[in-house]
Amino acid sequence: MIETKRRADFERFVNRTDTCWLWVGAKNPAGYGVFRVGPVRAGAHRWAWQWTHGPIPEGMQIHHQCRTPACVNPSHLTVVTRRRNLQNRRFDSWQGIDDRITGVSHEPLTVTLTPEHSAWLRARAAETGETADELVARAMYRYMARWLGRWKDTSE
Ligand SMILES: [Zn+2]
Repeated sequence: MIETKRRADFERFVNRTDTCWLWVGAKNPAGYGVFRVGPVRAGAHRWAWQWTHGPIPEGMQIHHQCRTPACVNPSHLTVVTRRRNLQNRRFDSWQGIDDRITGVSHEPLTVTLTPEHSAWLRARAAETGETADELVARAMYRYMARWLGRWKDTSE
């Protein structure tokens, strides 16, 4: 009975689209939904996964295959090791930065980001445990490699 009520509370914050089920309630700075059940406050996607598949095994994390942090569609979520999840996130951060660089000057080598994208970058860095400089350095390397026409995608 209590469980049913909680699920109903949860559903009030879910906007189901044809693909992702978007969380419209409280979110953390990285864009993940947050939901409280009794004294336990946890990621909305974690609740969604548990209610569908059962308890999340110790030390495991929930990965969004759809790359949409606010999504709580259980069919878009997979359980992965912490290490794997971090790799996925780093790969995503790296991908995203490419699209957000607004200018590169080659002499001296500098990257221009809009203020909005700088904030985005800091959020990604906080998420992956890397520094914003590390993320930018990697994006610049990729940009330069492509510019030189030698870019070959060898990422996973
Ligand atoms: Zn999704």
